[in-house]
Amino acid sequence: MTAISQAIHTLQGSLPKGVDLVAVSKFHPVEALMEAYNAGQRIFGESRAQELIKKVPEMPDDVEWHFIGHLQTNKVKSIIPIVSLIHSIDSEKLLRTVDEEAGKAGRIVDVLLELHVAQEESKFGFTPEDCLRLAGDGTFASLKNVRIRGVMGMATNTEDEAEIAKEFHAIRAVFDTLKQGAMSANPEFSIVSMGMSDDYEIAIAEGSTMVRVGSKIFGPRQY
Ligand SMILES: *Cc1c(COP(=O)(O)O)cnc(C)c1O
Repeated sequence: MTAISQAIHTLQGSLPKGVDLVAVSKFHPVEALMEAYNAGQRIFGESRAQELIKKVPEMPDDVEWHFIGHLQTNKVKSIIPIVSLIHSIDSEKLLRTVDEEAGKAGRIVDVLLELHVAQEESKFGFTPEDCLRLAGDGTFASLKNVRIRGVMGMATNTEDEAEIAKEFHAIRAVFDTLKQGAMSANPEFSIVSMGMSDDYEIAIAEGSTMVRVGSKIFGPRQY
């Protein structure tokens, strides 16, 4: 067994029921993805539109492609026909662009709202307040071609596990507030995407339903 297939088996065997694994394959060659595929992995996460578009025809048809990186509005149209879930909706502008392009393509696209809770400075992601405001004022409900499936977030890159847990807790709390409030009539609002190679166990303890693991499966990335 290769190191990659071993890692997939170990991870798949250790994740609790109800937690899905996204194999984050950015910067790795298709040969590496195929090793994961042959070990049973079907969900792959990519963070750059061009790389995603190049890999799709080189992989089997039953792969589910998730987009997890910052998405520029001018790249939306090119990935709409390919993706089954966009994790990284990080602004109202991007959300509206995806809705518009999905409409033009005659598709309903599943998306997650990216929340910014980490201490690191970032231009990307909704604050919990913005997210709750857009849910409350009817903005989300007005979009016809996107289906909001849940939330996504990242914790600060730190050794401080209490801080990481606190941030994941905050992401889960936004999800729960929406689930009990503005999204209560939407059973498909069910995904909390949080946890990466170094912190997915903390994320699961705080209520993650989908972990995005890259280097722990594929090894270090060669940028
Ligand atoms: C790269 C990336 C991951 C995976 O990171 P690892 O530390 O390699 O597991 C997860 N989520 C996002 C948004 C990423 O960009």
